[in-house]
Amino acid sequence: MEYSEILIRYGELSTKGKNKNRFVGRLLTNLRCSLAGYSRLKITGDRDRAHILLNGENPAAVIADLKKVFGIQNFSPALKVDRQISAIKAAVQEIMQKLYQDGMTFKISTKRSDHDFEYGTYELNELLGNAVFDVLPNIKAKMKQPDVNLQVEIRSDGVFISYETIKGALGLPVGTSGKGMLMLSGGIDSPVAGYLAMKRGVEIEAVHFASPPYTSDGALLKAKDLTHKLTAYTGGIKFIEVPFTEIQETIRQKAPQAYLMTLTRRFMLRIVDEIRALRRGLVIINGESLGQVASQTLESMQAINEVTTTPIIRPVVTMDKTEIISISEAIDTFDISIRPFEDCCTIFAPASPKTKPNLAHVHSYEARMDVDGLVARAVSGIKIETIKAQAAENEEFEGLL
Ligand code: ATP
Ligand code: MG
Repeated sequence: MEYSEILIRYGELSTKGKNKNRFVGRLLTNLRCSLAGYSRLKITGDRDRAHILLNGENPAAVIADLKKVFGIQNFSPALKVDRQISAIKAAVQEIMQKLYQDGMTFKISTKRSDHDFEYGTYELNELLGNAVFDVLPNIKAKMKQPDVNLQVEIRSDGVFISYETIKGALGLPVGTSGKGMLMLSGGIDSPVAGYLAMKRGVEIEAVHFASPPYTSDGALLKAKDLTHKLTAYTGGIKFIEVPFTEIQETIRQKAPQAYLMTLTRRFMLRIVDEIRALRRGLVIINGESLGQVASQTLESMQAINEVTTTPIIRPVVTMDKTEIISISEAIDTFDISIRPFEDCCTIFAPASPKTKPNLAHVHSYEARMDVDGLVARAVSGIKIETIKAQAAENEEFEGLL
C-alpha cells in the first residue's frame, strides 16, 4: 500500500489572526513553487491545513523537499481508502502487520469531519482496535504514548490513515515578512545568514561584490552556486552582481592600509542600500559575527553602519563559528563555501586592519574620493539574473580549478 496524500499542519502562522489568509496563501504558493518538479501533485489548503495529493509521485522524494518549506509545523503522509468499514479494517490490519515488532503497543485515534458517517468515533476505535487484535493477538493497546498512534480521519471524500508525524522546517512562509537584500560573499557565514532570514519569512535577493580581474570567475560561480543551494527554500532567487573593482582601486590609492577594510565595507553598505531602495527591499542582511574578524568588532560595526539608517539583520551575530558551520553543513552550503577562491575582501585585506576605526579619519579619507560618483557607477553597472531551484547544479566549477 502506497501513501496517497500528505497532510500538512501549519506552524506559527496559525496564531496570526487576520493575517492568516495571507500567510496560508503564501505557503500554498511556496509549496507549489518548491514542488513544481512533480507535475502530478495536487496541492490544496484551507485555513487549518494543507493537503498534497500524490497521484503516484514518489512520496520519499516529495517528503525530502517538503522538509525545506518554511511555515510548516509537521506533516503526516496518509493512505486514502474507501469509506466502507471492510476497506478501513483491511487497511488498518495491513498497516499494523507491516509495522509490528515484538512487544509493540498501539492506539487507534479516529476523527470524523463527516458526521453523517454510519459509525461514531468511539465505535470506530473499538471496531478497528479489535480488527488489529484479530491479526496480531500479542499486540497491546496503550492510550498514553503508544509506539504507534494510528490516526484514522473520516472525511466526505474518503478515509485517511496516517501513523507518522514528520517535523517540518518551522519558521514563517518565505515572503510573508517582506523582502531583504542579502550581502552574499563566498564565505561560510553569509549563506547561513540568508537561510536564517528566509526561515523568518524574509524573501531574499543576493547581492555579491566582484572585483575582476582581482577576483576570479571561480569566486563568482561559488556565490552563484551558494545562491542555488538557498533556492531549495524558496524556488528562485535574484542574484545581483556588483562591479567593485573601481572602488577597491580608488580606496587603495587614496587611503592608508589600516582603513581599507572600514572604507570598503562602508561603500558596500551604501551600494546595497541603494539597490535595496530601487528594488523595494525593507532590510539588509549580512553574515557578520561579533568579534570574528576586525570588521566585526562593535566599534567597526558602528563606523560601517554610519552610512545608513536601514535596519540590518545579522542572523549569526551571536553565534560561534562552530555553530555557524553546523548549520552550513545541514543546509549543504559548507562544501561550496570552502572552495579555495578568494573574494574581493580577502585580496585587498590589510595585514593589520583597524579594529577601532576613528570616524574623523574615515571622513577625511572619503573626502578625497568622489563617493557619490563611485557608488552611482557601481549601481548602474549591476547585473541581475534569476537563479532557479530546478536548474541543474553548475558544472563549470570543475573546469576552473
Ligand atoms: P562570510 O563567511 O559570509 O564571507 P566573513 O566571516 O568572511 O563572512 P567578512 O569577510 O568580514 O566576514 O564579511 C562580513 C559580511 O560582509 C559577510 O558575511 C557578507 O555578508 C558581507 N560581504 C563580505 N564580502 C562580500 C562580497 N564580496 N559580496 C557581498 N557581501 C560581502
Ligand atoms: Mg568572507
